[in-house]
Amino acid sequence: MIVHEHFDVNDQGHLTIGGVDAVDLAKTYGTPAYILDENVIRQQCRIYREAAKAHFGADALPLYASKALCFTEMYRIAADEGMGVDCVSGGELYTARKAGFPAERIYFHGNNKTDRDIADAMDMGVGTFVVDNAEELAAVSAEACRRGITQRILLRITPGIDPHTHRAIVTGNVDSKFGNAIATGQAMQIVKASLAAEGVSLAGLHCHIGSQIFDIEPFADAAAIMVAFLADIQKECGVVLSELNLGGGLGVRYTEHDRQIDYAAAIGDIAAIVKAQCKQHAIPLPRIILEPGRSLVAAAGATLYTVGSVKEIPEFRNYVSVDGGMPDNPRYALYQSRYTALIANRASEPATYRATLAGRCCESGDLLGEDMDIQKPVRGDVLAVLVTGAYNYAMASNYNRLPRPPVILLRDGKARIAVRRETFEDLTDHDQ
Ligand SMILES: *Cc1c(COP(=O)(O)O)cnc(C)c1O
Repeated sequence: MIVHEHFDVNDQGHLTIGGVDAVDLAKTYGTPAYILDENVIRQQCRIYREAAKAHFGADALPLYASKALCFTEMYRIAADEGMGVDCVSGGELYTARKAGFPAERIYFHGNNKTDRDIADAMDMGVGTFVVDNAEELAAVSAEACRRGITQRILLRITPGIDPHTHRAIVTGNVDSKFGNAIATGQAMQIVKASLAAEGVSLAGLHCHIGSQIFDIEPFADAAAIMVAFLADIQKECGVVLSELNLGGGLGVRYTEHDRQIDYAAAIGDIAAIVKAQCKQHAIPLPRIILEPGRSLVAAAGATLYTVGSVKEIPEFRNYVSVDGGMPDNPRYALYQSRYTALIANRASEPATYRATLAGRCCESGDLLGEDMDIQKPVRGDVLAVLVTGAYNYAMASNYNRLPRPPVILLRDGKARIAVRRETFEDLTDHDQ
C-alpha cells in the first residue's frame, strides 16, 4: 500500500492501481493520462450514503459536488450509487442531463448564476436552486413566475467559521464572495425576502465552510450556528425550514503526513452535534444534505507521465521534467498542494532521489511539487502522481496548446476510456 490501499507494487516492481499494472496502462493509453479506480469512487459514495442514513435518517442525502471531477460517466456513477449532485454551471448541468442524471436530485449552486443558467436549469427541471444573493433571488423568482412554476430553493448562508485550511479554499467566513452572513443580518434579510417572494418555495439553508479540512470542530461549529439560525427563523418568521445542507470539505490523504479520515465516524460526530443542537433549540431534526466532492474522488485517481529531462543543478536542486504539468494539474501552482509521486516502473526501489517535479510549460511556476522523494529517474520512466482524482481533470486547461489527457476508468481490474485524449484537431476545432 502506498498512501491508499488500491495503490500497491507487484512482483515486477511496478505500481499497481486497483490491481492493474500502471506501466501497462501507460503503454496502452499513452501519457499523460488520468487513471481512476471506479471501485474506490463507488466505495466512498457508499460510505457517505450509509453513514448519512445511519446517523441522520432515511431521508438524508449526500450530493456529489461534481466540480471536483466532471464528465458524463461520472454522473452515471453518481446516479447509480443513489447520490444527488451539486452542479455549479450551465456546462455541468448540461453534462448531468446528457448522462441522464435525475434532475430532481440536482442542487444548482454558484455565486453568479446567469439568466441563461437559470432558464436552462428550469428547462431541465432542476430540483433545487441554492440561491446565493438578493439579486439572484429576484431573478429566480421572476423566471419562475414567468413560467408559472414554483422553484424549490435553499439559501446559501455564511456561518462565519474559519476552518484552518488554505486561504483560497475558505468559503464560510463573513468576508466571502459566497452567501449571506448571519452576523451582518443579511442572512435573516434574505430569508424574509425569500418567504415573501413569488414563484419560490424556501425549503431550507445551505452552508459550505471550505475544503481539505481535517478537524471536525469547524463543521461542528458551523452546524451549531446553522441550527441556532433555524431556531431564530422559527422565532422571527414562524416557519420551520425543513432542510439543512451542511456542504462538503472533508479532507483527503495526499501524502504519508496526512491523516486518514474515517468518514463514517466523522459523519457520526457531526450528526451527534446537529441532533444535540436541535434538541437544545427545540426544533425538529431537519432533512440533512451532505455535499462532498474531493473525498469521493481524490484518492481514486493517479496521473501517469513520462519522464523527460533530469537536470541536476549542483548545490541547488534536481529538476525532473514530465510530459504534462500545470495544464493537467494546476494545484501546486495555485495552492502549493502536496502530492506523493513515484517511478511506476521501479516502484520497489528506495525513494532516495529528491526532485522538483516540473511540467513542460513555459512558466517557472509550472511545478507539480518540490522536495519530492522518488526513485532515481531516467528519461523514459513512467512517473505517477497519486491522489489526483479531485480538482485535476476538472481544472485542466490547454495552456501551451497541450491537449488534455484522457480519463481511464478501472473497474474490477478492467480499464475503459471515459474521456478520450484530446487531439491537435480538437485544439483547432473552435478556431474560425
Ligand atoms: C466545492 C464545494 C463542495 C465540495 O467541497 P469538497 O472540499 O470537494 O468536498 C461542496 N459544496 C460547495 C458549495 C462547494 O463549492
